[in-house]
Amino acid sequence: SGSAAQHHVSLAETATAHNYQPLPVVLASGEGAWVTDVDGRRYLDCLAGYSALNFGHAHPRLTAAAQEQLSRLTLTSRAFHNDRLGPFCRDLAELAGMDLVLPMNTGAEAVETAIKVARKWGYERKGVAPDRATVIVADGNFHGRTTTIVSFSSDPVARDGFGPFTPGFRTVPYGDSAALEAAVDENTVAVLLEPIQGEAGVLIPPPGYLKAVRDVCTRENVLFIADEIQSGLGRTGTTFACDANGVTPDVHVLGKALGGGIVPVSAVVSRHDVLDVIRPGSHGSTFGGNPLAAAVGHAVVELLRSGEYQARAAALGERLRGRLDGLIGRGAVAVRSRGLWAGIDLDPALMTGREACLRLLDRGVLAKDTHGSTIRLAPPLTIEADQLDWMCDQLSDVLTQE
Ligand code: PLP
Repeated sequence: SGSAAQHHVSLAETATAHNYQPLPVVLASGEGAWVTDVDGRRYLDCLAGYSALNFGHAHPRLTAAAQEQLSRLTLTSRAFHNDRLGPFCRDLAELAGMDLVLPMNTGAEAVETAIKVARKWGYERKGVAPDRATVIVADGNFHGRTTTIVSFSSDPVARDGFGPFTPGFRTVPYGDSAALEAAVDENTVAVLLEPIQGEAGVLIPPPGYLKAVRDVCTRENVLFIADEIQSGLGRTGTTFACDANGVTPDVHVLGKALGGGIVPVSAVVSRHDVLDVIRPGSHGSTFGGNPLAAAVGHAVVELLRSGEYQARAAALGERLRGRLDGLIGRGAVAVRSRGLWAGIDLDPALMTGREACLRLLDRGVLAKDTHGSTIRLAPPLTIEADQLDWMCDQLSDVLTQE
């Protein structure tokens, strides 16, 4: 009954800190692209855990890998070896065309790790003066919630009240490679970018931007760190979003879908000459690289090695784009997308993004707003074409009906 849902909403409101404002739906189970609430209503999940569920809910290969590992061995700490970590890291490095993997848990931890690696690389390999390293970041970025990461956020809500902030970051406009080049000096150790800015509203930089950033980094001996936590692992129609531009960064930062929506798994993936600056004792994590995480992460890498999910995202992405373009002038003012990842700017006079998401919820579609009048769509890559069409019908009706 509706009172079961109400009970859970009130409990969450009284017992949890209010760091989120969830839509009023209480989910109890999920399979593939669908989730079911406590009253038995089904919804198409078009947020997919902010891309952590690229392979959908309860993917049989992923749940089997987790279940098999659960009863065998779940945690050793890195004080000892385990028989899952090596195979996972070897295959993930190969998927990324890199040499080594440094496993962590959450996305923010992997970003922090990449920043630490870049600073140490700067001092040991580039010869930057002690404690002078700077990292160039982009305006409008989202890289996580730790004190250092919010130090270079440009979102006042994410920053205000959390200072003092970590020094050593320089912000440039996203998509402007000349501004980026001008910000490089002898202390610059890295450029940290999302190849497509997700939380900003699926902002795709101009053609040639990532290539130009790559060239500046190569010329100036600066590490190009690509935060592919949300854009990577099949979402955009290629394994990594950078692939579509023919660009290889020096460091890939991965998370979200790497854990198959089952356990938090993140990683910094790079070459020997970069990751070799990390030596025993200089970095670590109790849970990073645990056998359960490695077993699930390895199963994710196996799924991606087939190329099937990347191909689905590319083909269904074309279909999605065709439908979304038809909404421009009919409730939407702009549409951006790559693969199965879209940002739709609504006419602000029509309704807010949250209002649109509430109406979609009524129609059985889960989506998430961002920045007032934008909604984001990121369905599982396992979604079927007819389900995608149905979702677009719901969106069209929400925008055109009173
Ligand atoms: N980087 C990017 C590009 C993200 O989209 C996110 C999460 O939305 C993060 C980092 C942070 O990941 P986590 O929430 O796992 O710390």
